[in-house]
Amino acid sequence: MPSRAPRIAVLGLHLEANAFAPPTLREDFDHQCWEEGERISELARLVSHLPSELPGFYARMDATGPWEPVPVVVIGAPPGGPIAQDVFLDFLDRVRRGLAAALPLDGVYVASHGASSATGDEDSDGTLLELVRRIVGPAVPVIVTHDLHCNVSERLIAATDALIAYRTNPHVDARERAAEAADLMRRMLAGLRTAKAFVRLPIAPPSVTLLTAEGPYADLIALGQTLTGGDVLNVSVTGGFIFGDLPKCGMTVNVTTTGAQALADGVAARIARAAWADRDRYFRALTPLAEAVEIARRAGAGETAPVILADVADNPGGGGRGNTAWLLAALHEAAIPGVVLGVFVDPALAAEAHALGEGQRMRAVFNRVEDSFAKRFAADAVVEKLTEGGDVGRRGTLAGKRFTLGPSALLRLEGSGLRVVVGSLRRQLAEPRMLEMHGIDIARVPVVVVKSRGHFRAGFDEFVPAERTYEVDTPGLTSPVLGNFAWKRLPRPIWPLDAETTWTPPGGA
Ligand SMILES: [Zn+2]
Repeated sequence: MPSRAPRIAVLGLHLEANAFAPPTLREDFDHQCWEEGERISELARLVSHLPSELPGFYARMDATGPWEPVPVVVIGAPPGGPIAQDVFLDFLDRVRRGLAAALPLDGVYVASHGASSATGDEDSDGTLLELVRRIVGPAVPVIVTHDLHCNVSERLIAATDALIAYRTNPHVDARERAAEAADLMRRMLAGLRTAKAFVRLPIAPPSVTLLTAEGPYADLIALGQTLTGGDVLNVSVTGGFIFGDLPKCGMTVNVTTTGAQALADGVAARIARAAWADRDRYFRALTPLAEAVEIARRAGAGETAPVILADVADNPGGGGRGNTAWLLAALHEAAIPGVVLGVFVDPALAAEAHALGEGQRMRAVFNRVEDSFAKRFAADAVVEKLTEGGDVGRRGTLAGKRFTLGPSALLRLEGSGLRVVVGSLRRQLAEPRMLEMHGIDIARVPVVVVKSRGHFRAGFDEFVPAERTYEVDTPGLTSPVLGNFAWKRLPRPIWPLDAETTWTPPGGA
């Protein structure tokens, strides 16, 4: 261990890349997070827009002894298409120059989502880690944290000393996992060296089957935790992000031990066998649109307690554009009272409402520019509330974190009374403040429609429990109905998409 404070480089790349969505551009990062140098250390010790791993890592490192953070570059964009290649190369160049200038380093912490790709690089996360390893050399600890929706490559594993993934979905343990990375960093600074096992399974579950409150994935995470302790430092079972549509897609098991390879291999094999044996559970029935309208009708009439309808196929948190109108149109036309829908992403409509002002009437035209899923919908409306869209989250995945929807408007549609929060930036409705900041008292709303796949659960469960939450089957970029997509690069056959998928786990079935 060095006698001076250890110098730990910090960097990260947060993007979940959906191969079916338009490319992610520099402006998408600029709107969410593109920070370099010392500014990262400042923000990591405040309430900020940085990914939650950064404050988590800094807090634990600060609490466990002296260290010298060497922040390089941390970028994050909402889930979208692959990064435009020139933007990715520019990012890599900043990493390269930043690390080279910072040498000698004693460790590197990489806080990445783990499901990025670039338009010219299917394994941008692996490329980043190979670059890091090449610059710092084989002896310097390199520890990575990932979202559990990551697509892990062999290259990435080879370049790292440990991969630590989230264990909660909705993701409420990002700070804890970063703190775990900090603790491991301290042990590695003191001389510990790790062994790793890595297994990828031919299972690419739809995201709606990857919740961790209950279900097959919850059971796997729990099994991993029962096998953790002693020489087993970490077990990370990643669910993957199938919409990446890449050869490296698939569930993975990652085990890190205190240098005992056979132990790591044995634990990984045991978990992989359990995952494969349980594969029949990665199916989930969605609620047809007509049935969802009927559920809403009963709740709106007070015949049932309040409900949530989740528009899982148009989740900006998975690359969706937040602008499909199937539920909006159906609920408006059914004239169901008390419906609130958010966040509908339509910057032109939000700007028009802002130009008119609160209390004004307008012809609200949603999706004046159509695409394959976003169809035009129009209704007379009143502008009830205008905001600039920025706030700090209070529950779940955005708790204590700054977010912004961009200029936003609450519109009340005439005829149905349906209220819709229209935003300018693509953000999933995971956080109650996104509605509350528009004057909505969620406890009094019988039907909330969320454009979110699952993270809303950690924000809205104080209002509506899981048993009254319905995942609605509509067309969209993030539909859990995997047969809806023209897959190009996914390894086939893969479960549950291909019923004929066969596999022999390590050590045999
Ligand atoms: Zn995720």
